[in-house]
Amino acid sequence: MLRSSALRHIIEQSTSSRSSVTSRCFRRSFSQSTSVQLLNNLHPNLTRAAASAAALRPRPVPQQPNHSRNPPPPHQTIAETVADDLPISSMDNKRVAVGWDTRTWSRFHHIWLRDHCRCSECFHPTTKQRLVNTFEIPPDLQPLAVESKVDGLQVTWPSASTPHISFYPWSWLKHNSYDPPLMNSDQNEKILWGSKIEQSPPTVKYEEVMTDEGPGLYKWLQNIDKFGFCFVSGVPPTPEATEKLSERIGFIRETQYGKFWEFTSDLSKGDTAYTTLALGAHTDNTYFTDPCGLQLFHLLSHTDGSGGATLLVDGFYVASIVKELHPEVYDILSRVPVPAHAAGEQGSLYRPSPSTGYPVLRHDLGTGDLMQVRWNNDDRSVMRRLEGSLVESWYNAIRTWHSCLTSPDSEYWVQLTPGTAVIINNHRVLHGRSAFDGKRRMCGAYIGMDEFQSKLAVLSEKFSPNPDLRVSEESEKTRSVWSPYL
Ligand SMILES: [Zn+2]
Repeated sequence: MLRSSALRHIIEQSTSSRSSVTSRCFRRSFSQSTSVQLLNNLHPNLTRAAASAAALRPRPVPQQPNHSRNPPPPHQTIAETVADDLPISSMDNKRVAVGWDTRTWSRFHHIWLRDHCRCSECFHPTTKQRLVNTFEIPPDLQPLAVESKVDGLQVTWPSASTPHISFYPWSWLKHNSYDPPLMNSDQNEKILWGSKIEQSPPTVKYEEVMTDEGPGLYKWLQNIDKFGFCFVSGVPPTPEATEKLSERIGFIRETQYGKFWEFTSDLSKGDTAYTTLALGAHTDNTYFTDPCGLQLFHLLSHTDGSGGATLLVDGFYVASIVKELHPEVYDILSRVPVPAHAAGEQGSLYRPSPSTGYPVLRHDLGTGDLMQVRWNNDDRSVMRRLEGSLVESWYNAIRTWHSCLTSPDSEYWVQLTPGTAVIINNHRVLHGRSAFDGKRRMCGAYIGMDEFQSKLAVLSEKFSPNPDLRVSEESEKTRSVWSPYL
């Protein structure tokens, strides 16, 4: 009961609050509150100057505008354009403050703004590479002027010859605001799931993925991004068609198992995947420094036997439960590195670099978001770097982790049939299978996480419902220097 209510809670959170945060952040309206507009009618310059001066005070971020009608302190330089409904801009000796509304301010350091100039002298419009010499920017550089224009902030910099003019669109500044960050770190919401996903698992059709235009491919990749897996129905049950499907995302990552692989239970490679044994939920390639990002597989045939159901478990869902119910376990899983190996073949001996391995849970160093689950207890090497004082708590932690992974609430069992391929995010969703008899022919491929993210970003530029992520029709041939991905 606890678990299913936790799931509902998580789904509600990820579908409502996250998306509303995103749309709020991207909104292009910068209307002011009524009280300030009333004050503006009396004395617009003073109100705005006082509010923007307040924004340049050290942290914490001001929650209320300063409605004082006293002029700003004389040492403060205020350069701004007052035009209704434009963000307010002002500066002190270190930073420019941009007021989106009376309560939301972003501060940008002068050095940061100069370093991020996107004019064609400072940033190559085609290659999208920095041309400005960052190390020639004086550390104490100050603008000659900052001005709020209709489309963005104009900053004039002193220069030996003519002043250098930089321009930053409002949407770009808002997207890249770091003091404070205004954007949700994750542009695409994740939907965490448990066993109930069986009621409507994400599925797309082979034909829509394979059509040239791309919206079907975008839908497929979005599903993978949101759910960590997606079925593709109507795939011709051949290795050739499955390989073409894989290549819609990017080039296939070759490993010791081959490029596009096909296997039966013949132990042709020294790995339990090539047997009829049951396999518990695991991620692949824990023995790589960079485990494969996506894994696609397709059951081509199963004759003279039964069994071999596929198991999928959302590692992010299980991690969220562990974090809520057993924070100390979550902490250990996030900190203790686990070594691993692939050593069943005489000709290869894989271990990650460094060989002490990586923690089960890896996080974004900037945002703290969970990024990767790496778990295969069968491939684990000797725990020779485990601190003596941690041995018992570490075994308790993986026992708890295992019991949450194998809970009926977490496990999604599905019997694959020829014609339906499944693709999983190997950094998030664990997979396994039940034992089987007879002859099973499976084929599939690995695709790198970077290839997947790149394709998803390119398709978002074209098809995203969010206008800030889309490249406009006219400039479709060349990516904008203001792309939120740069
Ligand atoms: Zn420039």
